[in-house]
Amino acid sequence: LDTPLFAGLPGDIGVSFEFFPPKTEKMEAQLWDAVQTLAPLGPRFVSVTYGAGGSTRERTHATVARIQRETSLAAAAHLTCVEASRAEIDAVAEEYWAAGVRHIVALRGDPPVAGEPFRAHPEGYANAADLVAGLRKLHPFEISVAAYPECHPDSGTQVADLDNLKRKLDAGATRAITQFFFSPDCFFRFRDAAAAAGIESEIVPGILPVSNVAQTRKFAGLCGAEIPGWMDRLFEGLDDRPAARQLIAATLAAELCRKLYAGGVRHFHFYTLNRAELAYAICHLLGLRPVATAQEKAA
Ligand code: FAD
Repeated sequence: LDTPLFAGLPGDIGVSFEFFPPKTEKMEAQLWDAVQTLAPLGPRFVSVTYGAGGSTRERTHATVARIQRETSLAAAAHLTCVEASRAEIDAVAEEYWAAGVRHIVALRGDPPVAGEPFRAHPEGYANAADLVAGLRKLHPFEISVAAYPECHPDSGTQVADLDNLKRKLDAGATRAITQFFFSPDCFFRFRDAAAAAGIESEIVPGILPVSNVAQTRKFAGLCGAEIPGWMDRLFEGLDDRPAARQLIAATLAAELCRKLYAGGVRHFHFYTLNRAELAYAICHLLGLRPVATAQEKAA
């Protein structure tokens, strides 16, 4: 890879984008702008998160259903086991199927009170593997699950974490999407360990473009991801310079992707935080260009 960034790479890269459901009209407009800006890049799918404790059930559904209805994108709905019975979760999944949504990102979810151990609902799904098996019984959904290159905080060891990932894939999931990470070697070690554990499914790196280290650290503490010390130094003195932080975020994420590409990665999942330009710039550096839709080709 001696070309500058991604210039000259063949067009063999696939991307997917993750959004979160908006709370206000202004955020709804921002989300929709992000969807419309990123759609021409032809993502394999776009997904919409499910708030802690099922707090966004309606908003997630409304957002996914709108993407499915109003765009030609394949929409995926995140779904968690938290605070809901099997019957309630199955009903949500049935609504998705009826709305034409064919892809679910199946998760256990986090306990409603941060720091407390996870307790399954007495009539609920016990964990993500159990949820995958339940969804499989309902319909032939495409199912993605979560993976943790730096180990999930609830897992004693990486062996236990990989056993759990294998259970989710054996239960019927198609691919794993990882928690964010900042060291390509960490991802490669994880991919090798997964292969050694007999995992053959695609493991898609989740890429978080960081423009606010303090905010990212708060979140990383909960999910077991490490923020390297050099990242603090990189953003030093830029608190009042959001534009500079964005440029650095794009550069860092593109550099991570470039190294992952060199190691054979061909699908990148972006945590967009509903911001279009950052993800767009990184994809552009990756060599992605707008693809003409079928209607445009026909015109
Ligand atoms: P699981 O795979 O069920 O496992 C969690 C941990 O528990 C693992 O360490 C596992 O080893 C352990 N475990 C599971 N079953 C057992 C068992 N039977 N015995 C012993 N240990 C067990 N959260 C949301 O609330 N909404 C979202 O939209 C959302 N989207 C996400 C998207 C991605 C790509 C990722 C990586 C995470 C996402 N999360 C989301 C966060 C996720 O819900 C949390 O990380 C949660 O703590 C674990 O969910 P999981 O699906 O990985 O759980």
